[in-house]
Amino acid sequence: MIVAMKDDATEEHIQLVIERMVELGFNVHRTTGAAQTILAGVGTPEHFDVAEFKVLGGVHDAYRISSPYKLAGRNFRPEGTKIKFPNGVVIGGNEIVIMSGPCSVESREQILLSAKQVAAAGAKFLRGGAYKPRSSPYSFQGMGVEGLKLLREVADETGLLVITEVMEISQIEGMLPYIDCFQVGARNMQNFNLLRELGHVRKPVLLKRGIAATIEEVLLSAEYILSGGNYDLMLCERGIRTFETYTRNTMDISAIPVLKKLTHLPVMGDPSHGVGIRDLVPPVALAAVAAGADGLLMEMHPNPDKAMSDGAQSLYPEQLEKLVAQLRQLAPVVGRKIA
Ligand code: PEP
Ligand code: MN
Repeated sequence: MIVAMKDDATEEHIQLVIERMVELGFNVHRTTGAAQTILAGVGTPEHFDVAEFKVLGGVHDAYRISSPYKLAGRNFRPEGTKIKFPNGVVIGGNEIVIMSGPCSVESREQILLSAKQVAAAGAKFLRGGAYKPRSSPYSFQGMGVEGLKLLREVADETGLLVITEVMEISQIEGMLPYIDCFQVGARNMQNFNLLRELGHVRKPVLLKRGIAATIEEVLLSAEYILSGGNYDLMLCERGIRTFETYTRNTMDISAIPVLKKLTHLPVMGDPSHGVGIRDLVPPVALAAVAAGADGLLMEMHPNPDKAMSDGAQSLYPEQLEKLVAQLRQLAPVVGRKIA
């Protein structure tokens, strides 16, 4: 059930409604928007009547939530979620945020040069995997904690934020000091134990769409994190598996406006994994922003031909720079901007 309070509802009004919801057996999640407080009751109390809530003091409206995802649904935060990061970076606001860097952290020199190049191009986040989910156990598996330390060091040196992938619960604690945002990869979108645990941390999370996940499944996975109380969550379309083999995946551009309609969570686009071919990344990145993405996660490597993973889809530094310049021109057309 959603209870939307009036703009001028007092704290006393709000507390009375919460008390009644708890009494009925609801787990109450509270969010305060620009003016209005919204209370989402999660759970399935046997007997309750929304009409009872409609007439309580300070209540604007009360209604049942028909979708299976309660907290991810747009009506929990009609104005949209804005995730605030250090350095004043906001995701979900007017600005399109660029996250870029190599697929994997490979060495100090490689990640430092990457950081300088993505910062120069206009990115706000440095990406790079320290723990890598590889299709083959014989492929490079990442540098681990050493990689995390390098990410933090070079990001601080270049004024960037750090986003990197978490693969299992045991890594969470050790990652906290080094990162600004957890990335949950496509292969882990339905690792429900991991998602539940990320609901308890107080650090933003980017949740990627699974390789064969429906939009509803993405939103239900998001619900695992939100129901733990971590509302600093964004989603990421990174392509799904279809019968098409020309591209690595099929970038589902239409999922972006669908998600923007269904959920208040920011939506990012990852054209690199979406297409898997370097020269196709820029046009698909432009399409993602035109379709309403709040930002982009893209692979760039100082020397893609020598990359230890995903070289074929990694942009050359000058390609990233040119793309961001094009995105700057495109953004105003859809009412956005790039700093
Ligand atoms: C990555 O970002 O390098 C990655 C492994 O992505 P995905 O989980 O989308 O395959
Ligand atoms: Mn990759």
